[in-house]
Amino acid sequence: AKASGKNQCRFYADSMNANAENKLAMVASLRTAVEEQQFRVVYQPKFDIRTGAIFGVEALVRWDHPTGGPIPPADFIPLAEECGIIVDIGRWVMRTACAQSMAWQHAGLPPLVMSVNVSPRQFDDADLLTDIAATLLGTGLPAHLLELEITESLIMRDLDGAVATMRELQHMGLLLSIDDFGTGYSSLSSLKSFPITTLKIDQSFVRDLGAKTEDQAIARAIIALAHELKLRVIAEGVETHAQLDFLRASGCDEVQGYLFGRPSAPDVIEALLQAPAVA
Ligand code: C2E
Ligand code: CA
Ligand code: CA
Ligand code: CA
Repeated sequence: AKASGKNQCRFYADSMNANAENKLAMVASLRTAVEEQQFRVVYQPKFDIRTGAIFGVEALVRWDHPTGGPIPPADFIPLAEECGIIVDIGRWVMRTACAQSMAWQHAGLPPLVMSVNVSPRQFDDADLLTDIAATLLGTGLPAHLLELEITESLIMRDLDGAVATMRELQHMGLLLSIDDFGTGYSSLSSLKSFPITTLKIDQSFVRDLGAKTEDQAIARAIIALAHELKLRVIAEGVETHAQLDFLRASGCDEVQGYLFGRPSAPDVIEALLQAPAVA
């Protein structure tokens, strides 16, 4: 699957219902966006559920389109992925996030784990490992403070290849987590061969945790599975105290969501880090 579709855009009907012409225009403006650096990174805090302390942040990209922006990632990542531009965007996000993390440390703030989302095209890119090594060297960020969030579906496209790349990343000292866990197709037997530290429960299972639902059973099962495999487990999309109470009672380790903090500009995160823990 590695080389298929390189440098070519396949146009298909997507959620935006854009026709091929609109897509060509959008690809062109994505290229301009890369050249003119119209992107920005916001950071969403992750909390230890027991202490309430922030231990990390997730970097999330935003596109400040000069006339149509800000554009959320759901509206351009799929196309950027399809056309390969995601490799350039992802490299820029990674550098920006690592540099930001070091800037916080230089400002005297406690070291944080910086989590960056990685999409399939980036993961397949031959230069991924050297890019990351160069970024760590260039920014001075220690590898153990950089986490890559990888989706299950990414891994399952090419199981052996993905596990091999994950092992190399692990060797470099990076942390790896499985994003959107429960929405993909990884078999439980393959899960044990992934060199990961964390499972992230997808927000679709978190949404209804406040009420008695099947999602409660799913969340509990994921937490138990993670702990059996000696992994940490984080829930994303936590918006209510009822969800938080359920997750805490079920032994979830970490939480992230609007209840605690939205994806924010660096100065907002800095202020949060200077404030005492909220638990
Ligand atoms: P994701 O990695 O699953 O990120 C979680 C999404 O949920 C983010 O949306 C975040 O803003 C949102 N969110 C956080 N807390 C809550 C909450 O309490 N309630 C609700 N309803 N939503 C919450 P966002 O920033 O729009 O990003 C959407 C997706 O775009 C991400 O999903 C990720 O797959 C992708 N993405 C974002 N930034 C990047 C990037 O730099 N590179 C790559 N490859 N993908 C990215
Ligand atoms: Ca993520
Ligand atoms: Ca997710
Ligand atoms: Ca997602």
